[in-house]
Amino acid sequence: MEWEPVIGLEIHAQLATSSKIFSGASTAFGAQPNTQACAVDLGLPGVLPVLNREVIRMAASFGLATGSTVSKRSVFARKNYFYPDLPKGYQISQYELPVVQDGELTIELEDGTSKRIGITRAHLEEDAGKSLHEDFHGMTGIDLNRAGTPLLEIVSEPDMRSAKEAVAYMKMIHSLVRYLEISDGNMQEGSFRCDANVSVRPVGRESFGTRAEIKNINSFRFVEQAINYEIERQILLLESGGAVIQETRLFDPDRHETRSMRSKEEANDYRYFPDPDLLPVVLDQEFIDGVAAALPELPAARRQRFVDQYGLSDYDAGVLTASREFAEFFEATAREAGGNGKLAANWVMGEFTAALNKGGIDIADSPVSSGDLGRMLLRIDDGTISGKIAKQVFEAMWNGEGDADRIIEEKGLKQITDPAAIEAVIREVLENSPKQLEQYRGGQEKVFGYFVGQVMKATKGKANPGEVNALLKKMLGS
Ligand code: ADP
Ligand code: MG
Repeated sequence: MEWEPVIGLEIHAQLATSSKIFSGASTAFGAQPNTQACAVDLGLPGVLPVLNREVIRMAASFGLATGSTVSKRSVFARKNYFYPDLPKGYQISQYELPVVQDGELTIELEDGTSKRIGITRAHLEEDAGKSLHEDFHGMTGIDLNRAGTPLLEIVSEPDMRSAKEAVAYMKMIHSLVRYLEISDGNMQEGSFRCDANVSVRPVGRESFGTRAEIKNINSFRFVEQAINYEIERQILLLESGGAVIQETRLFDPDRHETRSMRSKEEANDYRYFPDPDLLPVVLDQEFIDGVAAALPELPAARRQRFVDQYGLSDYDAGVLTASREFAEFFEATAREAGGNGKLAANWVMGEFTAALNKGGIDIADSPVSSGDLGRMLLRIDDGTISGKIAKQVFEAMWNGEGDADRIIEEKGLKQITDPAAIEAVIREVLENSPKQLEQYRGGQEKVFGYFVGQVMKATKGKANPGEVNALLKKMLGS
C-alpha cells in the first residue's frame, strides 16, 4: 500500500520586545538564573498583569503579512496545568478568540513549484520557566527568567505532505518574522521552535489518520529528521497490523528517533477560561491600518522587485531574499557597485557566501562590508582588474589587508589592457613555443587555448582576456 504523510506545524516565535508580555521585567537572554522574573511573572498574590502594547502590534503585523484576519476583539485565557516551572499554576494564552486567524503563506519547493499552506491561527501567550536537569545532581533546577516572555504561536492547517514541505514552510515563517522584525528567530536560544503533528493515510483516502505530536524541535534539520522518522514509524506500525495512538512524542537528536512522552489518555485537561485579570483586547480599524502602513517590503515582493530591477533570475532573487540581512547586504553592494545587480548577485552568492560558510561567520560579522565589496566590483566593471584577479583582491580584503584600491595598487594587480604590451608578450610566447605553433598551423585549433594560457601565465593573470584573444587571433592569422 502507498502512504501519504499529513503534517501540521505549531511554531512558537518569541517576540522581540524588551520587556515581558504582562510585566516590566527584562527579556534579555543569558542573565543569571532567576534574576529576571518579577512578582507578576511569578503570579504572586495581589499582582495584576498589564498587557505589553507592543506584542499586539507585532501579532497584527504578522497577521497582515499573511493575509490573515486580525481580530478586532481577542481574549486572553488561562490554561491550567501543574508543573514546577509554572509557579502560577496556569499559563496565560489565547484560546477561543486569538488575535490572528485564517491566513496563508506560499512556499517554494525545490522542484520549482509552489504551494499554499493555510494558517489556522496565531495567538499570543506567555512562556513558562525552564527546568534544568543537567546541572544539579539528583535534583532539578528551576530558572524562571523565561516566565512571561511573549510568544506568538502560529498554527498551520494540516496542509503539508512531506518533511521537505514542512521545512520549507518553517523556513518561510522564520524569514518572515525576521523581515517583520518581530522575532530574532534565534533557534539556539529557543526563540524559534516548533511542534510537528504527523499522521499518515493510504493514498487516495480523504480522512486523516491519527496523529502524533513531536514537541519542541529547535532546528530545521531536526524537524526534517523527526518527521521522516515519525512517518516511517507510523507506516511500519500500520503495515504490521498495529494502530497509531494519539500521543505526544519527543525527538532525540542523538539517536535520530522519536519517543513517547505521554498518550492522549494522560493528556492534560487544561480547563481553559477567560482570564479575569485581563480585559479583552479591542482593536480599532485605525490601529490596524497604522500597522499595515508600517509593514516593510515582504520577501515575495522584494524577490519580484529584484527580478524586475536588476534582471536577476527568479532563483537568484529567491536565494538573495531568503533572509532580510542577506537581501540588504546584496542591495547595498549593488548600489555601491553603480547599480550592477548581476555582478553584485554573483559575488554575494558566490565568493562572499563561500567565505562566510568557510569561516562559520555570520553576515553581521563579515570582515568585508557591502561597501568594500561594491567598490571592488566597480574596479571589475571599469576594467581595472579582471574577474579572476578580483578573487585575489577579495581574499586580501577578507584577510584585512585594506580596501580594493589599495590592494590593487600595492600588489600591482592592475589589468594590462595596452595592446602593444600584450602583443609583446604574445610574440615572446609564440617564439618560445615552436612545436605548438606547428601543431596549430597543422590544423589543431585547440592549441589556441594553450597560447592564451601561456600569455596569462606570463602576465600573472593580469592581461585582459578579451584583448589577449583578439590579438592572438589576429597575430596567428597573419
Ligand atoms: P492541539 O491543540 O491538540 O495541538 P489542534 O487541532 O489545534 O490540536 O492541531 C494542532 C496541529 O495539528 C495543527 O497544526 C493541525 O494542522 C495539526 N493536525 C491536526 N490534525 C492532524 C492530522 N490528522 N495529521 C497531522 N496533523 C494534524
Ligand atoms: Mg498542539
